[in-house]
Amino acid sequence: MKMSVIGCGYLGAVHAAAMASLGHEVVGVDVDPAKIEALAAGQAPFFEPGLPELLTENHDSGKLRFTTDIAEVAECDVHFVAVGTPQRRGGHSADLTYVNAAVESLLPHLKPGALVVGKSTVPVGTAERLAERIEPTGAELAWNPEFLREGFAVKDTIEPDRIVYGVRSDRARQILDDVYRTAVDAGTPVVVTDYATAELVKTAANAFLATKISFINAMAEIAEVTGADVTKLADAIGHDARIGRKFLNAGVGFGGGCLPKDIRAFRARAEELGRGESLAFLKEIDEINLRRRQRVVDLATELLGGSVYEKRIAVLGLAFKPNSDDIRDSPALDVAVMLNGLGAEVLAFDPEAVENARRAHPQLVYAESAEAALKDAQAVVLVTEWSEFRELDPAATAGLVAQRLVIDGRNVLDPAAWQGAGWTYAGLGRP
Ligand code: NAD
Repeated sequence: MKMSVIGCGYLGAVHAAAMASLGHEVVGVDVDPAKIEALAAGQAPFFEPGLPELLTENHDSGKLRFTTDIAEVAECDVHFVAVGTPQRRGGHSADLTYVNAAVESLLPHLKPGALVVGKSTVPVGTAERLAERIEPTGAELAWNPEFLREGFAVKDTIEPDRIVYGVRSDRARQILDDVYRTAVDAGTPVVVTDYATAELVKTAANAFLATKISFINAMAEIAEVTGADVTKLADAIGHDARIGRKFLNAGVGFGGGCLPKDIRAFRARAEELGRGESLAFLKEIDEINLRRRQRVVDLATELLGGSVYEKRIAVLGLAFKPNSDDIRDSPALDVAVMLNGLGAEVLAFDPEAVENARRAHPQLVYAESAEAALKDAQAVVLVTEWSEFRELDPAATAGLVAQRLVIDGRNVLDPAAWQGAGWTYAGLGRP
């Protein structure tokens, strides 16, 4: 099939490359010329495992091209809308400026019978409104939320664990079946529903995941005042299949370009709908999450004798999660900025996110490697669980630092091994 992907960020670039690898003829469109220039040269403009290979492969086969010119989508049968829906400045609701602009730019180029497929995460009711703009052109709208995880985006796009279609016609459903033929034929569950349900599936899934993380972080807060161990607690409750162990890792909390803004936008939308009380709990989920960042800073302050001022602190991690260079609403970067704001001499390192962090926070000092960050540190704060940090050797690193103090903001280090090498170890919700 001939298709376009409008918006080539973390979601759209991967989607475009994955669709090409499934045999479709794809044109990716973005308003950012630098991004398009990189993509057109077969280079990934951000770090995502597997994406560079997919781009090169499909670039060479001629199935995938990128442009800033929206007119080049005119031949396409399917148009994916994958632009950003960030948090509105000064408010909690979603900023739909980019979605609206993308759809308006598409309108003059839609051929009758084309299918516009919304993938961006939007407040419930958006698709209904956009359909009114699209239908007069003879094209149709479907909503097909995306569930990919950064760091696993290629695999999640090619082999999703479910696909959701919000459609108004059987024809739209059939087109989407053809788009996702490989996954559909492999037996991937497909949920076919209306627009509102499709939009809500995405925000509900993110609200549930955020709730699960904040739930275990609330347990960590209780563990901290009782001497209990939240990691053992998580193992024990996780054995109950109704609960499950995944997403029960207490730590510095969630971040990124999705969960935080999506739960805020969801709550804002519920308020607009007169059902603010139904999602009032998401405010607590957000607050528990943000408190964990402060907790890491408080722990550092406490363990450094009451102040971090002029203390040399190695911050390991800046991305919001490992295997990504995404620093949007990153707990790790927030912790580095907070410590720096308190006068600590922060030396921060991340295997992929330093450049993005430097652009956002030029006032921070960045190291070239984990070892360079650790050199002469009076405290080490691990805030993104990259495997290279999880695998640090406590005996070897002991020789680098000025003081053996490690704060494990992700509960991924083995306390016994670190203590055995002479370190003071502090996790979150762990004695
Ligand atoms: P992003 O900011 O990385 O990418 C958005 C892209 O859209 C940018 O490159 C921007 O230049 C481009 N853009 C903006 N306006 C445009 C226009 N009018 N025409 C063409 N391009 C335009 O954001 P993202 O992380 O890719 O997220 C996109 C959407 O997908 C959001 O709604 C997000 O919530 C959702 N989503 C993201 C993920 C994820 O893991 N990143 C997962 C699922 C859903």
